[in-house]
Amino acid sequence: MKAFLAALLATVAAPLAAQQAAPAPATAPRTAPKLIVAISVDQLSADLFAQYRQHFTGGFARLLRGAVFPSAYQGHAASETCPGHSTILTGFRPAKTGIIANTWVDQNAPRPDKLVYCAEDERVPGSDHSKYTASDVHLKVPTLGERLKAVSPASRVVSVAGKDRAAIMMGGRKVDELWWWDGKTYSSYAGRAVPPVVQRTRDAVAALIARPQAALPLPTFCAPYDRAVRIGEQVLGRGRFERTAGDARAFRASPASDAAVLSLAAGLVQDMKLGRGPATDVLAVGASATDYVGHSFGTGGTEMCIQMAELDAALGGFLDVLDATGIDYQVMLTADHGAHDATERQRDRAMPMEARVEPALALKAMDAAIAAELKLPGPVLLAAEGDVYVDRKLPPATRARVLAAARRRYLAQPQVEAAYTAAEIAATPPPTSPPETWSLLERARASFDPTRSGDLLVLLKPRVTAIEKPGPGYVETHGSPWDYDRRVPLLFWRPGQPGFEQPLSVETVDILPTLAASLRLAVPGVDGRCLDLDPGEADTCR
Ligand SMILES: [Zn+2]
Repeated sequence: MKAFLAALLATVAAPLAAQQAAPAPATAPRTAPKLIVAISVDQLSADLFAQYRQHFTGGFARLLRGAVFPSAYQGHAASETCPGHSTILTGFRPAKTGIIANTWVDQNAPRPDKLVYCAEDERVPGSDHSKYTASDVHLKVPTLGERLKAVSPASRVVSVAGKDRAAIMMGGRKVDELWWWDGKTYSSYAGRAVPPVVQRTRDAVAALIARPQAALPLPTFCAPYDRAVRIGEQVLGRGRFERTAGDARAFRASPASDAAVLSLAAGLVQDMKLGRGPATDVLAVGASATDYVGHSFGTGGTEMCIQMAELDAALGGFLDVLDATGIDYQVMLTADHGAHDATERQRDRAMPMEARVEPALALKAMDAAIAAELKLPGPVLLAAEGDVYVDRKLPPATRARVLAAARRRYLAQPQVEAAYTAAEIAATPPPTSPPETWSLLERARASFDPTRSGDLLVLLKPRVTAIEKPGPGYVETHGSPWDYDRRVPLLFWRPGQPGFEQPLSVETVDILPTLAASLRLAVPGVDGRCLDLDPGEADTCR
C-alpha cells in the first residue's frame, strides 16, 4: 500500500536505510519540539474518519495513539476550503481571518464579473477570479509561522499542498518554501527559485502521470462499499483509480497526488534539515486528494475507501521519514471542512430528506423574478456561493427594496432554511458557547466580514446538496452550516506523548494556541483556547 510514496521517495528523498532512526523518548517531552508538522486533509469529515478509524494501520493509526479530539469544529457557516484552512494555523475564525469563502464578490474589483478568489491579488491587470495571480493579501491575521519568525528569526516555515489556497492560508506571509499543485506541476509565487528537491518531485510526478495507472487493489474492508450508484450519465461507487496515460485531472483526484505532496514534504525536511536548525521550524502540509475524490465520487463508494487506506499508508511512510531524522517533532492533523455523500447514493440507502438544489434557487432565476416584480431592468443581484449581493449601482432606496424582495423570495423557497441580512448577522455577538450549540445565526456570524460578505446570506435545509446538475468530477459538495460539513477530527502526536481521547467538542481555532503553548509563544486575543495535551500530568497550557 505504500507503493506511491515509496516510488516517489526513491527519486525525491534520500533512502531511509541511510539514516539512523532515533528511539522515541520514554517520558513525556517537556522541551519545545524542533519541528511542528501541521497536516490538513481536505474534506476529512469527523463522520468519514469515524467510519474508517477502526481499519487504519499506518499514519492515522499512529496519530490515534496520541491526543484525539474526534469532534473538532470548523464552526462557521461557510464550510469551504479557504475559510477552513485560514482557521487552522491562525487561531481565528473566518470573521477575523477575512477569508469568508473560497470566492466572494467585490463590487469595486477592477474586473467585469466582480468575483474575487480568496488566494489571489485581484489588482493584477488582466486577471480574473479563475485566471489569477496567487497571493496572501486577503489573509488579515498572522499564521503560526509568522508569529514564530517574529520572535525567532532563525525559524523556517515551509508550506506544501495540493491546492494553492491550502498552502497559502496555512503558510501565510514570510514562508521560506511555498509550493502547491497547479494542475500541471508544483508552483510557487513568481520569481522564486526552484530547489532541487522540488524539481525532482516535478519530474517524478510528471513521469507518474505520463504512465497509465492500473486499478488499485481493493482492501477487504472496502468490499461492503463496492456498489454501483447511477448519477446522471455516470456510474460511480466501484472505481479503483485506473487512469489513462497523461490524465493529470484523474491523477489529482487520486491517492497518488497525496503521496506526491507528502513525498515533496519529506524531501524538503531532508534537504532543508528542518528540525535540525537552531530554532523550531514549521512544516504545513495540505493533502487535497480526499476533497477531489469526494467531489468526483462521493464519500460512500470504493473510491473513498481506497483513498482512506492509501492516505493512511502514505502518512505512515511520511512519519517514518520524520522518525529517521531523529528529531523531536510534533504532529497535528485536522481538516478544513467535512462533507456529506452524494444525494443519489444516500437515496439508494433510504436516507430521508436527500435532495439536489432546485433550479428556482439559481441566481439568474431569482434575479429575473425580483427585477420583474420591482419593474427594474435588471440584473439586480450578484452572488458567490451562499452570499448574495445587491448591485451597488442602484440608488439606496431601490437597493433596500431589492434586498427585502430577495429575502422574502428566498425564504418562500421550500429548500431554504434561513436568509439573514448583513445587518442581522453584524448585530449578532461572536459565539462563545460550545460549537455544536451555536444557532445558525451564530454560525453565520463566525464567517462574516462586513467588507466582504454578502448583503444576504442564504442557507439551505439539511441534506440539500448545492449542486443542481451533477457532472464529471462534481457530484458531491460541502459549504453548508450543518454538522456533517463543520465537524472534523483533530489529532496531536509527539514521541512520548501519552494518548487519550476527549469526546467533547473543540474548535480548529484551538490548534494555534495549543501549538503555541508547546513553543512557549504568547498568542493573546485569538478566538481559540489552548487544549491540554497531557491531562495526566502538569497542564501543558501553562
Ligand atoms: Zn471541496
